[in-house]
Amino acid sequence: MASHPWARRTVTGTRPGRRVAFRFVAGETLAEAMAAARELHSRGLRTMLDHLGEHVETPKQALAAREAYLSALAAGADAEDVDAAISVKLTQLGLDVSVDACWANFEPIVQSAGEKDRLVMIDMESHGYVDRTLEVFARAYERSQHVGIAIQSYLRRSEADVFSLPEGCRVRLVKGAYLEPDDVVFTRKRDVDASYARLFATLLAREHAVDVATHDPTLIEGVRTRVDAFEYGWSRVEFQMLYGVRRDLQSRLAADGYPVRVYIPYGTEWYPYLTRRMAERPANVWFFISNLVRTSG
Ligand SMILES: Cc1cc2nc3c(=O)[nH]c(=O)nc-3n(C[C@H](O)[C@H](O)[C@H](O)COP(=O)(O)OP(=O)(O)OC[C@H]3O[C@@H](n4cnc5c(N)ncnc54)[C@H](O)[C@@H]3O)c2cc1C
Repeated sequence: MASHPWARRTVTGTRPGRRVAFRFVAGETLAEAMAAARELHSRGLRTMLDHLGEHVETPKQALAAREAYLSALAAGADAEDVDAAISVKLTQLGLDVSVDACWANFEPIVQSAGEKDRLVMIDMESHGYVDRTLEVFARAYERSQHVGIAIQSYLRRSEADVFSLPEGCRVRLVKGAYLEPDDVVFTRKRDVDASYARLFATLLAREHAVDVATHDPTLIEGVRTRVDAFEYGWSRVEFQMLYGVRRDLQSRLAADGYPVRVYIPYGTEWYPYLTRRMAERPANVWFFISNLVRTSG
């Protein structure tokens, strides 16, 4: 339904649609994203900027995405008052064209991250991209250890994939956000959660830096207890959550002294991102519909 042109028009072209969107998206410009980063920083939260967009179709679009990421890196590095990393989607940099085309756009970002001592994380997209994403990541990591990768616990293959990651690299552990066929993912929540816990234990034991990117209170509590038991555990682990999701939990963990980073999406191409957030939580759809009714009533 979300992919229907009517749904897209209703969300992107109406005030209530945009109001819901801007609960989860910091704005359409880098300046708005940086303002959000500063506000989060003032509450003790680290940040990660995500210039929204995916599946670009032309080299020109991929080049524009590359420039946008370079600007985000520079803005984060220039601002003394924020700790902002960036996160990239490789399909925005030309992965649908070829690994080499994508690498040509990603390489300058990797280089700039090294020069500016900034972190660049690679998002994991739908399952057809995993091999190519891991390939580009391996190339990037050889060049600079300022690059990390997301791994999805709903994917059955992730349990094997984590054993072929470069030693000690930074991994963002997520459950996975795409609608995928049953033979490639665990479909029951309890299996996805059990996989998450197993992957976390494996990554920790293999001495990776791990970003625990979830809002799931049970998983967060499990991680907290486990990492508290290590003397320097929190130098390698941080919690990560999405902008606008469980703000209460973000603040509480930060106030208790835990490292928390908020993923800040921004840009004009926010519709696909928003539909994934809606799909994760039916209450978000009700929030949208009630806003629509209230505004038109
Ligand atoms: C920093 C970060 C980076 C991410 N990067 C990727 C990536 O690269 N690739 C990828 O596939 N996925 C990514 N995701 C999305 C992730 O895969 C999940 O789809 C998303 O985090 C929701 O799952 P959950 O782990 O919070 O657990 P869930 O079991 O889905 O949710 C647990 C609880 O969190 C709250 N919650 C979760 N989602 C929402 C929401 N949308 N609105 C309101 N409340 C919500 C609810 O209280 C819910 O009960 C990322 C997530 C984060 C936090």
